[in-house]
Amino acid sequence: MRSQFESSYTLKANNPPMSDYQLWHLRLGHIGTNNLLKIHTFVQGMDNANLAPPESSVCEGCIYGKQCHKPFAESQTSRELMELIHSDIIRPIRVPSINKARYVLTFIEHRSQYPKCYFLKYKDAQAILA
Ligand SMILES: [Zn+2]
Repeated sequence: MRSQFESSYTLKANNPPMSDYQLWHLRLGHIGTNNLLKIHTFVQGMDNANLAPPESSVCEGCIYGKQCHKPFAESQTSRELMELIHSDIIRPIRVPSINKARYVLTFIEHRSQYPKCYFLKYKDAQAILA
């Protein structure tokens, strides 16, 4: 098990030397192999580097970077019908509808998940309460 301060970036004296590929992969923010090979002529000091990717290299940082959260557990809170309603206004739509509506006001009843939406020309109280 690794210590608190040890990671894949920790250079230890007994570790084998880092390859040019690994070094530039880390220096350039975990860049992919294809992009690394494309830019090697543009970066100063990189032209003589051996950028052949190792056959079996696993970058710990890349693995952590690609992880995502597990979904949240489903809420166990039971609510009565019409006790909780979610609402939102969708921002101005660039292309208005046939009726010149540029906003969409949405309501979703939490328990039944019943949705309802209204199309609005303007985002003001008078338009919403009309
Ligand atoms: Zn990486």
